[in-house]
Amino acid sequence: MSKRIMVVDDSRLVRVQLEDILEGTEYEIVAYCRSGEDAIAQYDEVKPDIVTMDIIMQGMDGLDASELILKEHPDARIVMISSLAYDDTYKKAKAIGAKGFVDKPFHQEQLLKVFEQALC
Ligand SMILES: [Mg+2]
Repeated sequence: MSKRIMVVDDSRLVRVQLEDILEGTEYEIVAYCRSGEDAIAQYDEVKPDIVTMDIIMQGMDGLDASELILKEHPDARIVMISSLAYDDTYKKAKAIGAKGFVDKPFHQEQLLKVFEQALC
């Protein structure tokens, strides 16, 4: 059975890139959220195996949204996908409980590896 992915990103381009990269893999995008607020609202219903989370978005940022989702659902598997490739950001993501971090721009091999690790 394919693993269900919820994509949280305000960029349409990133959504298209993720669709392309995941096509033909064991991962299927089942929900797309444009904001952290949207992700929080949809998480319960979607119950994804993995959430990919952008950081810079309108309104709530991806770190705050992840923190809130993990407070409610400690078993949520959240992978940050962001261009904020700084030690502070990595540390904060880890402290919150994110399962991984993928730098933008990303490629398939790197993404699938982080997904695999997140599911362990
Ligand atoms: Mg963004």
